[in-house]
Amino acid sequence: MALPIVAVVGRPNVGKSTFVNRIAEADEAIVHEMRGVTRDRSYHKADWNGIEFKLIDTGGIEMGTEDQFQGSIRSQAFEATNEADVIVFIVDGKTGINADDEEVARILRKTSKPVLLAVNKLDTPNKLDELWEFYQLGLGDPFPISATHGHGTGDLLDEVVDHLRKVDCSFEDEEDDEDIINVAIIGRPNAGKSSLTNRLTNNDRSIVSDVAGTTRDAIDTVVVHDGKKYRIVDTAGLRRKSQIDEDVEYYGFVRAMRAIDRADVALLVIDGSIGLTDQDQRVAGFAAERGCAMIIVLNKWDLVEGPEAKAEVRERIEDRMTFVGYAPVVATCALTGKKVDRIWDAVDKAYAGFSQTISTNKLNSWLSSIRETGHTVSQGKAVLRMKYVTQTGTCPPHFTVFVNRPDLVTDNYERFLENRLRKTFDLEGTPIRLKFKKKD
Ligand code: GDP
Ligand code: GDP
Repeated sequence: MALPIVAVVGRPNVGKSTFVNRIAEADEAIVHEMRGVTRDRSYHKADWNGIEFKLIDTGGIEMGTEDQFQGSIRSQAFEATNEADVIVFIVDGKTGINADDEEVARILRKTSKPVLLAVNKLDTPNKLDELWEFYQLGLGDPFPISATHGHGTGDLLDEVVDHLRKVDCSFEDEEDDEDIINVAIIGRPNAGKSSLTNRLTNNDRSIVSDVAGTTRDAIDTVVVHDGKKYRIVDTAGLRRKSQIDEDVEYYGFVRAMRAIDRADVALLVIDGSIGLTDQDQRVAGFAAERGCAMIIVLNKWDLVEGPEAKAEVRERIEDRMTFVGYAPVVATCALTGKKVDRIWDAVDKAYAGFSQTISTNKLNSWLSSIRETGHTVSQGKAVLRMKYVTQTGTCPPHFTVFVNRPDLVTDNYERFLENRLRKTFDLEGTPIRLKFKKKD
Protein backbone atom coordinates (compact mmCIF):
# COMPACT_ATOMS: atom_id res chain seq x y z
CA MET A 1 0.00 0.00 0.00
CA ALA A 2 1.27 3.46 -0.82
CA LEU A 3 2.24 5.61 2.13
CA PRO A 4 0.47 8.93 2.59
CA ILE A 5 2.56 11.94 1.71
CA VAL A 6 3.45 14.92 3.85
CA ALA A 7 5.13 17.77 1.98
CA VAL A 8 7.29 20.29 3.76
CA VAL A 9 7.36 23.60 1.94
CA GLY A 10 8.79 27.03 2.61
CA ARG A 11 11.46 29.36 1.37
CA PRO A 12 15.13 28.46 1.80
CA ASN A 13 16.70 28.68 5.21
CA VAL A 14 13.56 28.50 7.29
CA GLY A 15 14.64 25.10 8.63
CA LYS A 16 12.87 22.56 6.38
CA SER A 17 15.79 20.15 6.22
CA THR A 18 16.44 20.47 9.93
CA PHE A 19 12.81 19.64 10.60
CA VAL A 20 12.76 16.72 8.19
CA ASN A 21 15.99 15.29 9.52
CA ARG A 22 14.63 15.41 13.01
CA ILE A 23 11.58 13.32 12.23
CA ALA A 24 12.67 11.13 9.35
CA GLU A 25 13.95 7.70 10.17
CA ALA A 26 17.70 7.69 10.15
CA ASP A 27 19.23 6.27 6.99
CA GLU A 28 15.82 6.00 5.46
CA ALA A 29 16.20 8.77 2.95
CA ILE A 30 14.71 7.33 -0.17
CA VAL A 31 16.82 9.63 -2.26
CA HIS A 32 20.45 9.69 -1.36
CA GLU A 33 22.37 12.81 -1.65
CA MET A 34 25.12 12.75 -4.18
CA ARG A 35 28.19 14.72 -3.44
CA GLY A 36 28.37 17.97 -5.30
CA VAL A 37 24.75 18.22 -6.36
CA THR A 38 21.98 20.05 -4.65
CA ARG A 39 18.73 18.33 -5.14
CA ASP A 40 15.57 20.27 -4.88
CA ARG A 41 13.54 17.61 -3.19
CA SER A 42 13.98 14.40 -1.34
CA TYR A 43 11.74 11.70 0.03
CA HIS A 44 12.04 10.21 3.48
CA LYS A 45 10.15 7.62 5.43
CA ALA A 46 8.83 8.65 8.79
CA ASP A 47 6.59 7.32 11.52
CA TRP A 48 4.70 9.08 14.28
CA ASN A 49 2.49 7.30 16.80
CA GLY A 50 2.51 4.24 14.61
CA ILE A 51 1.39 6.04 11.46
CA GLU A 52 3.87 5.73 8.65
CA PHE A 53 4.18 8.35 5.96
CA LYS A 54 6.46 9.69 3.29
CA LEU A 55 7.97 13.10 3.87
CA ILE A 56 8.89 15.26 0.94
CA ASP A 57 11.45 17.88 1.67
CA THR A 58 11.32 20.52 -0.99
CA GLY A 59 14.41 22.22 0.37
CA GLY A 60 17.71 23.12 -1.10
CA ILE A 61 16.88 25.03 -4.22
CA GLU A 62 19.72 27.12 -5.41
CA MET A 63 18.55 30.36 -6.73
CA GLY A 64 19.43 32.48 -9.68
CA THR A 65 17.55 35.68 -10.16
CA GLU A 66 14.76 36.95 -7.99
CA ASP A 67 12.22 35.97 -10.63
CA GLN A 68 13.38 32.39 -10.90
CA PHE A 69 13.33 32.23 -7.17
CA GLN A 70 9.71 33.26 -6.91
CA GLY A 71 8.84 30.95 -9.76
CA SER A 72 10.28 27.90 -8.12
CA ILE A 73 8.72 28.66 -4.76
CA ARG A 74 5.42 28.87 -6.51
CA SER A 75 5.86 25.61 -8.39
CA GLN A 76 7.02 23.85 -5.23
CA ALA A 77 3.86 24.89 -3.49
CA PHE A 78 1.72 23.83 -6.42
CA GLU A 79 3.36 20.47 -6.57
CA ALA A 80 2.90 19.96 -2.89
CA THR A 81 -0.80 20.67 -3.22
CA ASN A 82 -0.94 18.17 -6.05
CA GLU A 83 0.77 15.24 -4.52
CA ALA A 84 0.64 15.62 -0.75
CA ASP A 85 -2.03 14.51 1.68
CA VAL A 86 -0.94 17.04 4.28
CA ILE A 87 1.23 20.10 3.78
CA VAL A 88 3.50 21.56 6.44
CA PHE A 89 4.38 25.14 5.62
CA ILE A 90 7.40 26.33 7.55
CA VAL A 91 8.17 30.00 8.13
CA ASP A 92 10.97 31.64 10.06
CA GLY A 93 9.91 33.02 13.45
CA LYS A 94 13.07 35.03 13.72
CA THR A 95 12.90 36.95 10.48
CA GLY A 96 9.13 37.21 10.25
CA ILE A 97 6.95 37.16 7.15
CA ASN A 98 8.34 38.17 3.79
CA ALA A 99 6.94 38.37 0.28
CA ASP A 100 7.83 34.76 -0.53
CA ASP A 101 5.94 33.51 2.50
CA GLU A 102 2.95 35.51 1.37
CA GLU A 103 3.21 34.08 -2.11
CA VAL A 104 3.26 30.49 -0.81
CA ALA A 105 0.42 31.22 1.62
CA ARG A 106 -1.68 32.58 -1.23
CA ILE A 107 -1.34 29.28 -3.08
CA LEU A 108 -1.86 27.13 -0.03
CA ARG A 109 -5.01 28.96 1.03
CA LYS A 110 -6.65 27.73 -2.16
CA THR A 111 -6.04 24.03 -1.66
CA SER A 112 -8.56 21.74 -0.04
CA LYS A 113 -5.72 19.74 1.51
CA PRO A 114 -4.89 20.31 5.18
CA VAL A 115 -2.15 22.91 5.61
CA LEU A 116 -0.32 23.28 8.92
CA LEU A 117 1.64 26.44 9.49
CA ALA A 118 4.81 25.92 11.53
CA VAL A 119 6.69 28.92 12.85
CA ASN A 120 10.23 27.69 13.31
CA LYS A 121 13.24 28.91 15.28
CA LEU A 122 11.16 29.75 18.32
CA ASP A 123 13.79 28.18 20.53
CA THR A 124 12.47 29.40 23.88
CA PRO A 125 9.16 27.65 24.48
CA ASN A 126 7.59 30.30 26.69
CA LYS A 127 8.60 33.27 24.63
CA LEU A 128 6.21 33.26 21.75
CA ASP A 129 5.62 36.94 21.07
CA GLU A 130 6.71 36.48 17.48
CA LEU A 131 3.99 33.95 16.85
CA TRP A 132 1.06 36.31 16.51
CA GLU A 133 2.05 38.09 13.33
CA PHE A 134 1.76 34.78 11.46
CA TYR A 135 -2.00 34.74 11.80
CA GLN A 136 -2.04 37.22 8.92
CA LEU A 137 -1.04 34.44 6.55
CA GLY A 138 -4.61 33.22 6.84
CA LEU A 139 -3.72 29.60 7.48
CA GLY A 140 -5.18 29.17 10.94
CA ASP A 141 -3.35 28.72 14.23
CA PRO A 142 0.41 28.70 13.78
CA PHE A 143 2.39 25.96 15.52
CA PRO A 144 5.47 27.30 17.31
CA ILE A 145 8.39 24.93 16.84
CA SER A 146 12.11 24.72 17.14
CA ALA A 147 13.46 22.24 14.65
CA THR A 148 16.89 22.26 16.24
CA HIS A 149 15.70 21.71 19.80
CA GLY A 150 12.56 19.76 19.07
CA HIS A 151 10.15 21.98 20.98
CA GLY A 152 6.65 21.90 19.59
CA THR A 153 7.40 19.37 16.87
CA GLY A 154 5.46 16.67 18.75
CA ASP A 155 2.27 18.72 18.81
CA LEU A 156 2.66 19.51 15.15
CA LEU A 157 3.15 15.84 14.26
CA ASP A 158 0.13 14.85 16.35
CA GLU A 159 -1.90 17.17 14.19
CA VAL A 160 -0.28 15.83 11.01
CA VAL A 161 -1.15 12.21 11.80
CA ASP A 162 -4.66 13.19 12.89
CA HIS A 163 -5.17 14.36 9.34
CA LEU A 164 -3.43 11.32 7.89
CA ARG A 165 -5.76 9.00 9.76
CA LYS A 166 -8.57 10.51 7.74
CA VAL A 167 -6.80 9.84 4.47
CA ASP A 168 -8.09 6.72 2.85
CA CYS A 169 -4.87 5.19 1.70
CA SER A 170 -6.54 2.35 -0.08
CA PHE A 171 -7.46 4.67 -2.91
CA GLU A 172 -3.95 6.02 -2.85
CA ASP A 173 -2.70 2.63 -3.85
CA GLU A 174 -0.75 3.60 -6.89
CA GLU A 175 -1.51 0.59 -8.99
CA ASP A 176 -5.23 1.01 -8.46
CA ASP A 177 -5.60 4.64 -9.35
CA GLU A 178 -7.92 4.41 -12.32
CA ASP A 179 -7.83 8.01 -13.46
CA ILE A 180 -4.14 8.21 -13.87
CA ILE A 181 -2.21 7.59 -17.06
CA ASN A 182 1.05 5.79 -16.38
CA VAL A 183 3.82 7.01 -18.63
CA ALA A 184 7.22 5.29 -18.58
CA ILE A 185 10.23 7.11 -19.94
CA ILE A 186 12.65 4.52 -21.24
CA GLY A 187 15.72 4.49 -23.40
CA ARG A 188 19.47 4.23 -23.27
CA PRO A 189 21.60 6.10 -20.77
CA ASN A 190 22.22 9.66 -21.85
CA ALA A 191 19.41 9.69 -24.41
CA GLY A 192 17.79 12.57 -22.52
CA LYS A 193 15.25 10.81 -20.29
CA SER A 194 15.83 13.00 -17.26
CA SER A 195 15.81 16.16 -19.33
CA LEU A 196 12.55 15.11 -20.92
CA THR A 197 11.02 14.16 -17.58
CA ASN A 198 11.94 17.55 -16.24
CA ARG A 199 10.25 19.20 -19.20
CA LEU A 200 7.11 17.13 -18.74
CA THR A 201 6.95 17.54 -14.99
CA ASN A 202 8.05 21.14 -15.20
CA ASN A 203 10.67 20.95 -12.58
CA ASP A 204 14.31 20.21 -12.16
CA ARG A 205 13.83 17.41 -9.74
CA SER A 206 16.17 15.01 -11.42
CA ILE A 207 19.52 16.55 -11.89
CA VAL A 208 20.95 16.17 -15.32
CA SER A 209 24.63 15.50 -15.64
CA ASP A 210 26.92 15.10 -18.57
CA VAL A 211 28.33 11.87 -17.26
CA ALA A 212 27.09 9.05 -19.45
CA GLY A 213 26.14 6.08 -17.39
CA THR A 214 25.64 7.44 -13.95
CA THR A 215 23.41 4.77 -12.51
CA ARG A 216 19.99 5.55 -11.22
CA ASP A 217 16.65 4.05 -10.37
CA ALA A 218 13.13 4.91 -11.34
CA ILE A 219 11.24 7.71 -9.69
CA ASP A 220 7.60 8.63 -10.12
CA THR A 221 6.13 12.07 -10.46
CA VAL A 222 2.44 12.75 -10.70
CA VAL A 223 1.60 15.71 -12.91
CA VAL A 224 -1.63 17.28 -13.98
CA HIS A 225 -1.69 18.49 -17.56
CA ASP A 226 -4.82 19.98 -19.14
CA GLY A 227 -6.87 18.62 -16.28
CA LYS A 228 -5.66 15.05 -16.68
CA LYS A 229 -3.44 13.16 -14.28
CA TYR A 230 -0.28 11.42 -15.39
CA ARG A 231 2.26 9.44 -13.47
CA ILE A 232 5.61 9.93 -15.11
CA VAL A 233 7.97 7.07 -14.35
CA ASP A 234 11.44 8.18 -15.25
CA THR A 235 13.82 5.26 -15.28
CA ALA A 236 16.71 7.69 -15.01
CA GLY A 237 15.27 9.72 -12.18
CA LEU A 238 17.47 8.59 -9.38
CA ARG A 239 21.15 8.27 -9.39
CA ARG A 240 23.01 5.98 -7.14
CA LYS A 241 26.57 6.41 -6.13
CA SER A 242 28.59 6.45 -9.28
CA GLN A 243 31.33 4.42 -7.63
CA ILE A 244 29.16 1.34 -7.76
CA ASP A 245 30.51 -0.52 -10.69
CA GLU A 246 27.45 -1.76 -12.44
CA ASP A 247 26.81 -2.73 -15.96
CA VAL A 248 24.95 0.42 -16.82
CA GLU A 249 23.36 -0.83 -20.00
CA TYR A 250 22.15 -3.97 -18.33
CA TYR A 251 20.65 -2.27 -15.31
CA GLY A 252 19.12 0.37 -17.49
CA PHE A 253 17.42 -2.40 -19.39
CA VAL A 254 16.17 -4.13 -16.25
CA ARG A 255 14.74 -0.85 -14.98
CA ALA A 256 13.09 -0.21 -18.29
CA MET A 257 11.38 -3.59 -18.09
CA ARG A 258 10.07 -2.87 -14.65
CA ALA A 259 8.75 0.50 -15.73
CA ILE A 260 7.14 -0.98 -18.83
CA ASP A 261 5.31 -3.49 -16.68
CA ARG A 262 3.49 -0.65 -14.95
CA ALA A 263 3.05 1.60 -17.96
CA ASP A 264 0.08 2.45 -20.12
CA VAL A 265 2.21 4.46 -22.49
CA ALA A 266 5.97 4.07 -22.96
CA LEU A 267 8.03 6.93 -24.30
CA LEU A 268 11.05 5.36 -25.95
CA VAL A 269 13.66 8.10 -25.98
CA ILE A 270 16.25 7.71 -28.71
CA ASP A 271 19.34 9.85 -28.94
CA GLY A 272 18.86 11.30 -32.42
CA SER A 273 22.55 12.13 -32.71
CA ILE A 274 23.37 8.43 -32.37
CA GLY A 275 20.29 6.94 -33.99
CA LEU A 276 18.53 3.68 -33.33
CA THR A 277 20.50 1.04 -31.46
CA ASP A 278 19.98 -2.66 -30.84
CA GLN A 279 19.01 -1.98 -27.28
CA ASP A 280 16.31 0.45 -28.39
CA GLN A 281 14.91 -2.31 -30.55
CA ARG A 282 14.98 -4.82 -27.74
CA VAL A 283 13.21 -2.47 -25.34
CA ALA A 284 10.62 -1.63 -27.99
CA GLY A 285 10.04 -5.33 -28.60
CA PHE A 286 9.48 -5.88 -24.94
CA ALA A 287 7.03 -2.99 -24.69
CA ALA A 288 5.12 -4.33 -27.69
CA GLU A 289 4.96 -7.76 -26.12
CA ARG A 290 3.67 -6.36 -22.85
CA GLY A 291 1.05 -4.50 -24.82
CA CYS A 292 1.74 -0.94 -23.76
CA ALA A 293 1.16 1.96 -26.06
CA MET A 294 4.32 3.56 -27.39
CA ILE A 295 5.69 6.79 -28.69
CA ILE A 296 9.15 7.03 -30.17
CA VAL A 297 10.82 10.24 -29.07
CA LEU A 298 13.68 11.26 -31.30
CA ASN A 299 15.53 13.48 -28.90
CA LYS A 300 18.56 15.74 -29.41
CA TRP A 301 17.08 16.58 -32.79
CA ASP A 302 19.00 19.85 -32.60
CA LEU A 303 22.21 17.85 -33.00
CA VAL A 304 21.11 16.20 -36.22
CA GLU A 305 22.04 18.57 -38.97
CA GLY A 306 20.46 18.84 -42.34
CA PRO A 307 17.44 17.23 -43.93
CA GLU A 308 19.44 14.29 -45.27
CA ALA A 309 20.79 13.22 -41.91
CA LYS A 310 17.35 13.66 -40.39
CA ALA A 311 15.70 11.57 -43.09
CA GLU A 312 18.30 8.86 -42.60
CA VAL A 313 17.59 8.55 -38.88
CA ARG A 314 13.87 8.39 -39.50
CA GLU A 315 14.17 5.85 -42.28
CA ARG A 316 16.25 3.54 -40.15
CA ILE A 317 13.55 3.61 -37.51
CA GLU A 318 10.86 2.97 -40.07
CA ASP A 319 12.80 0.02 -41.49
CA ARG A 320 13.82 -1.61 -38.27
CA MET A 321 10.86 -0.91 -36.04
CA THR A 322 8.07 -2.30 -38.20
CA PHE A 323 6.91 -4.43 -35.27
CA VAL A 324 5.90 -1.21 -33.54
CA GLY A 325 4.74 0.50 -36.70
CA TYR A 326 1.84 1.98 -34.73
CA ALA A 327 4.18 4.11 -32.63
CA PRO A 328 4.27 7.74 -33.77
CA VAL A 329 7.70 9.33 -34.00
CA VAL A 330 8.05 12.72 -32.33
CA ALA A 331 11.26 14.69 -32.76
CA THR A 332 12.17 16.89 -29.80
CA CYS A 333 14.88 18.82 -28.09
CA ALA A 334 14.50 18.19 -24.39
CA LEU A 335 17.35 20.57 -23.69
CA THR A 336 15.40 23.62 -24.85
CA GLY A 337 11.93 22.13 -24.54
CA LYS A 338 11.32 22.62 -28.25
CA LYS A 339 8.43 20.52 -29.56
CA VAL A 340 8.15 18.75 -26.22
CA ASP A 341 4.50 19.81 -26.06
CA ARG A 342 3.73 17.51 -28.94
CA ILE A 343 4.48 14.61 -26.65
CA TRP A 344 1.40 15.39 -24.56
CA ASP A 345 -0.81 15.21 -27.63
CA ALA A 346 0.80 11.96 -28.69
CA VAL A 347 0.39 10.47 -25.19
CA ASP A 348 -3.27 11.47 -25.06
CA LYS A 349 -3.95 10.06 -28.46
CA ALA A 350 -2.12 6.81 -27.75
CA TYR A 351 -3.89 6.42 -24.43
CA ALA A 352 -7.27 7.11 -26.00
CA GLY A 353 -6.68 4.23 -28.39
CA PHE A 354 -5.16 2.02 -25.76
CA SER A 355 -8.18 2.34 -23.48
CA GLN A 356 -10.86 2.61 -26.13
CA THR A 357 -14.01 0.51 -26.15
CA ILE A 358 -15.71 0.11 -29.49
CA SER A 359 -19.28 -1.08 -29.63
CA THR A 360 -20.05 -4.40 -31.27
CA ASN A 361 -22.39 -2.56 -33.62
CA LYS A 362 -19.68 -0.32 -34.93
CA LEU A 363 -17.27 -3.19 -35.24
CA ASN A 364 -19.71 -5.19 -37.28
CA SER A 365 -20.45 -2.35 -39.66
CA TRP A 366 -16.73 -2.12 -40.09
CA LEU A 367 -16.60 -5.85 -40.80
CA SER A 368 -19.29 -5.46 -43.45
CA SER A 369 -17.24 -2.77 -45.13
CA ILE A 370 -14.26 -5.15 -45.19
CA ARG A 371 -16.42 -7.88 -46.71
CA GLU A 372 -17.58 -5.44 -49.34
CA THR A 373 -14.01 -4.85 -50.49
CA GLY A 374 -13.99 -8.54 -51.35
CA HIS A 375 -10.53 -8.83 -49.89
CA THR A 376 -10.19 -12.21 -48.25
CA VAL A 377 -7.89 -15.22 -48.16
CA SER A 378 -8.36 -18.69 -49.51
CA GLN A 379 -6.64 -21.98 -49.81
CA GLY A 380 -7.71 -24.22 -52.64
CA LYS A 381 -11.47 -24.14 -52.52
CA ALA A 382 -11.67 -22.99 -48.92
CA VAL A 383 -12.39 -19.30 -48.50
CA LEU A 384 -12.14 -17.39 -45.24
CA ARG A 385 -15.48 -16.04 -44.11
CA MET A 386 -15.69 -13.62 -41.24
CA LYS A 387 -18.99 -13.84 -39.34
CA TYR A 388 -18.71 -11.20 -36.71
CA VAL A 389 -16.28 -9.38 -34.49
CA THR A 390 -16.40 -8.16 -30.94
CA GLN A 391 -14.03 -6.38 -28.58
CA THR A 392 -12.88 -8.74 -25.85
CA GLY A 393 -10.57 -6.48 -23.87
CA THR A 394 -8.96 -3.07 -23.50
CA CYS A 395 -5.57 -1.69 -22.52
CA PRO A 396 -4.59 -2.62 -25.19
CA PRO A 397 -7.70 -3.33 -27.27
CA HIS A 398 -8.37 -7.02 -27.93
CA PHE A 399 -10.70 -8.13 -30.66
CA THR A 400 -12.03 -11.57 -31.45
CA VAL A 401 -13.14 -12.29 -34.99
CA PHE A 402 -15.36 -15.30 -35.49
CA VAL A 403 -14.57 -17.05 -38.76
CA ASN A 404 -15.31 -20.30 -40.53
CA ARG A 405 -11.65 -21.40 -40.71
CA PRO A 406 -9.13 -19.74 -38.35
CA ASP A 407 -6.31 -21.71 -39.99
CA LEU A 408 -6.77 -19.74 -43.21
CA VAL A 409 -5.80 -16.42 -41.63
CA THR A 410 -2.30 -15.44 -42.75
CA ASP A 411 0.01 -12.92 -41.09
CA ASN A 412 -0.47 -10.60 -44.00
CA TYR A 413 -4.21 -10.78 -43.74
CA GLU A 414 -4.06 -10.15 -40.03
CA ARG A 415 -1.93 -7.06 -40.67
CA PHE A 416 -4.38 -5.91 -43.28
CA LEU A 417 -7.26 -6.17 -40.79
CA GLU A 418 -5.23 -4.49 -38.12
CA ASN A 419 -4.43 -1.55 -40.37
CA ARG A 420 -8.07 -1.20 -41.33
CA LEU A 421 -9.12 -1.25 -37.71
CA ARG A 422 -6.57 1.42 -36.90
CA LYS A 423 -7.71 3.64 -39.73
CA THR A 424 -11.38 3.31 -39.01
CA PHE A 425 -11.21 3.71 -35.26
CA ASP A 426 -8.23 6.02 -35.03
CA LEU A 427 -6.07 3.66 -33.01
CA GLU A 428 -2.67 5.30 -33.23
CA GLY A 429 0.10 4.49 -30.79
CA THR A 430 -1.39 1.38 -29.29
CA PRO A 431 -0.85 -2.27 -30.03
CA ILE A 432 -3.93 -4.27 -31.00
CA ARG A 433 -4.58 -7.90 -30.23
CA LEU A 434 -6.54 -9.87 -32.79
CA LYS A 435 -7.84 -13.37 -32.23
CA PHE A 436 -9.63 -15.62 -34.63
CA LYS A 437 -12.10 -18.17 -33.40
CA LYS A 438 -14.02 -20.81 -35.25
CA LYS A 439 -17.72 -20.32 -35.75
CA ASP A 440 -19.70 -22.33 -38.30
P1 GDP B 1 16.02 24.85 4.70
O1 GDP B 1 16.78 25.60 3.65
O2 GDP B 1 14.64 25.38 4.84
O3 GDP B 1 16.04 23.37 4.54
O4 GDP B 1 16.71 25.21 6.11
P2 GDP B 1 17.78 24.39 6.95
O5 GDP B 1 17.14 23.25 7.66
O6 GDP B 1 18.96 24.09 6.10
O7 GDP B 1 18.11 25.48 8.07
C1 GDP B 1 18.62 26.76 7.75
C2 GDP B 1 19.36 27.31 8.92
O8 GDP B 1 18.48 27.54 10.01
C3 GDP B 1 20.42 26.37 9.44
O9 GDP B 1 21.53 27.11 9.81
C4 GDP B 1 19.78 25.74 10.65
O10 GDP B 1 20.72 25.34 11.63
C5 GDP B 1 18.92 26.87 11.18
N1 GDP B 1 17.75 26.37 11.92
C6 GDP B 1 16.89 25.42 11.54
N2 GDP B 1 15.96 25.21 12.51
C7 GDP B 1 16.27 26.05 13.52
C8 GDP B 1 15.68 26.30 14.80
O11 GDP B 1 14.70 25.69 15.22
N3 GDP B 1 16.26 27.24 15.58
C9 GDP B 1 17.36 27.93 15.17
N4 GDP B 1 17.86 28.82 15.98
N5 GDP B 1 17.94 27.72 13.98
C10 GDP B 1 17.42 26.79 13.16
P1 GDP C 1 19.37 10.28 -19.45
O1 GDP C 1 20.60 9.57 -19.02
O2 GDP C 1 18.65 9.54 -20.52
O3 GDP C 1 18.46 10.71 -18.32
O4 GDP C 1 19.88 11.65 -20.17
P2 GDP C 1 19.96 13.12 -19.58
O5 GDP C 1 18.63 13.75 -19.53
O6 GDP C 1 20.76 13.06 -18.33
O7 GDP C 1 20.77 13.83 -20.74
C1 GDP C 1 22.08 13.46 -21.06
C2 GDP C 1 22.81 14.63 -21.67
O8 GDP C 1 22.22 15.01 -22.91
C3 GDP C 1 22.78 15.88 -20.81
O9 GDP C 1 24.02 16.52 -20.94
C4 GDP C 1 21.69 16.72 -21.44
O10 GDP C 1 21.89 18.09 -21.23
C5 GDP C 1 21.85 16.37 -22.90
N1 GDP C 1 20.58 16.51 -23.64
C6 GDP C 1 19.35 16.04 -23.28
N2 GDP C 1 18.44 16.35 -24.22
C7 GDP C 1 19.09 17.02 -25.19
C8 GDP C 1 18.68 17.62 -26.44
O11 GDP C 1 17.53 17.57 -26.85
N3 GDP C 1 19.67 18.22 -27.18
C9 GDP C 1 20.96 18.27 -26.75
N4 GDP C 1 21.83 18.90 -27.53
N5 GDP C 1 21.37 17.74 -25.60
C10 GDP C 1 20.47 17.11 -24.82
